[in-house]
Amino acid sequence: MKADLHLHTTESDGTWTPSQIGTEAVKRGLSVIAITDHDTTAGVKEAVRNAPTELKVIPGIELSTTTEAEEEVHILGYWIDISNPHLEDKLIRFRESRIGRAHEIISKLNQLGIPLNYEDVLQFASRSVVSRSHIAAALQKTGVVQSKTEAFTKWLGVGAPAYVPRFKIEPQEAVGLILDAGGVPVLAHPGLLTDLRIISDLIPHGLVGIEVVHSAHSPSQTEYFLRIAGELGLIPSGGSDCHGPGGKDQLFMGDYTIPIHWVDELYSQRGRY
Ligand SMILES: [Zn+2]
Ligand SMILES: [Zn+2]
Repeated sequence: MKADLHLHTTESDGTWTPSQIGTEAVKRGLSVIAITDHDTTAGVKEAVRNAPTELKVIPGIELSTTTEAEEEVHILGYWIDISNPHLEDKLIRFRESRIGRAHEIISKLNQLGIPLNYEDVLQFASRSVVSRSHIAAALQKTGVVQSKTEAFTKWLGVGAPAYVPRFKIEPQEAVGLILDAGGVPVLAHPGLLTDLRIISDLIPHGLVGIEVVHSAHSPSQTEYFLRIAGELGLIPSGGSDCHGPGGKDQLFMGDYTIPIHWVDELYSQRGRY
């Protein structure tokens, strides 16, 4: 019995559709998964509906936030009520701002002499979320860059010429939104952070867990965060953060899993507020 609580679908920047992902998970020996698309819960219902009966699908989300010090922090939410009005409202603003941001990035690229239009990008953006990753894919297709990584370093990343900052919410607010929607907030991939003080900062706001297992964590980071979780009274969690075949990462669903008793512990914390 293994769980992967961090997976993306075509509703954000993944390549498996919500209907496919359950079958793929079972093929890889998983018995519990969570759908955690960026800033949207649009894939949850479809994933639940199409999951093989032996698989449990947790409704989730991964919220992108920015700290006062401009560090990007991702907050995962599990067992959220996907029809919660506050959450829905915030997510609509998120989506609108992402579309606006994509237009701004494209116009910057045009000014820099790169011909690209919104329709080119939409070919890669499946449904509800338009992200820089889709713009990177369009740049690669048109031959402006050789890889998505190059697209980020040369054009789209922080400090690059076509960089446009995103609509911001702070991590504290994201934790609050998830609690408000009856969910369990978990800090995503702390190993990617430069300032770890955010972990203890978020505890008084109701943070329940941290990702210990993650595809970007080294074995020593996994060990380190497991110890930190124990010391701070946080529940360990994790998953692959897989974006599907041909996506922005390699295919590693099934390679980064957590034991079911961690999932049970997280579950026991839902609807606390
Ligand atoms: Zn993330
Ligand atoms: Zn993710």
